Amino acid sequence: MAPTTHAHPEGLVDRYGRQATDLRVSLTDRCNLRCEYCMPAEGLDWLPSDDVLTDTEVVRLINVAVTRLGVDEVRFTGGEPLVRRGLVDIVGATTALRPRPRTALTTNALGLQRTARALADAGLDRVNVSLDTIRPDTFAQITRRDRLHDVLSGLSAAAEQGLAPVKINAVLLRDVNDDQAPELLRWAIDHGYELRFIEQMPLDAQHGWRRDTMITADEIFDRLAEQFTLTPDSEERGSAPAERFLVDGGPATVGVIASVTRPFCGDCDRVRLTADGQVRNCLFAREESDLRTPLRDGADDEELANRWRLAVAGKRAGHGIDDPAFVQPTRSMSAIGG
Ligand code: SAM
Repeated sequence: MAPTTHAHPEGLVDRYGRQATDLRVSLTDRCNLRCEYCMPAEGLDWLPSDDVLTDTEVVRLINVAVTRLGVDEVRFTGGEPLVRRGLVDIVGATTALRPRPRTALTTNALGLQRTARALADAGLDRVNVSLDTIRPDTFAQITRRDRLHDVLSGLSAAAEQGLAPVKINAVLLRDVNDDQAPELLRWAIDHGYELRFIEQMPLDAQHGWRRDTMITADEIFDRLAEQFTLTPDSEERGSAPAERFLVDGGPATVGVIASVTRPFCGDCDRVRLTADGQVRNCLFAREESDLRTPLRDGADDEELANRWRLAVAGKRAGHGIDDPAFVQPTRSMSAIGG
């Protein structure tokens, strides 16, 4: 694996030479949807509130990452980050940092209609909205909530506030919405949203994922190719997870994120901070490194930075989903921060 060429001298570099510059911050493990491929209908045992970092603590750790560790992009996620009361203030404190990191929000868009303006005013750059279907009945089936209209108004509000490009992430489930890929793409193009399909990963709380039933990137491509002409986008992919295709010659594009069947771990530049202050060097890591305890025990910024460097140094070469010895992480996607 070729070492990253522009490594920050004091940055989050692992033993394979990759540098983590893209920080995913989970602001809560709670969510107001119950997507069937993510969590059970009754929800999960939420983190005790004392374990969740306060707004001040989250901002302190983001500050360490940006000013000492070379992080230049911060993405807020969850659970559902819009249910975190301090979200707008946390975004504002992040965009006030120098060097100013790029910022993004991964959200289901429930309530975004009300918050989009405040988020844009706080300096948020863009949003990724998760939406797997534009049919109300399929939406209710997948998410176990009848809220498609809220998502659609949240999307419009994000676009109106210039939180662009507005990207949509969709997961296809066999015999649920896998036949709807072309209509979702057509709808996204008509509305000016950039659609990306993501392969379903073994990260559900119910451990129901199966390699032999998941919809693969090749299948997604084939379904779309029935109605569109897809040509590889020649733009440099870099560390971006999506393979992008021009749709019918462009300029519209569609992305396919083949996390399972064509992993891109060699180019990974991500690191995660959970809502309870644990660093995870990979979505599929089995270990976490605790920053909350030293933070609350009075550690200074350099000590926190050193612990963070150590946490990333031990990152494995790949997520190993296809390895027969693969074991799904104890925390599920919503508890890690997707
Ligand atoms: N609530 C926010 C949202 O809906 O975007 C942020 C958290 S959610 C866990 C982030 C993304 O993870 C969503 O796009 C969701 O579809 C995706 N996701 C959840 N479980 C997944 C799985 N097992 N495989 C692939 N994607 C998954």
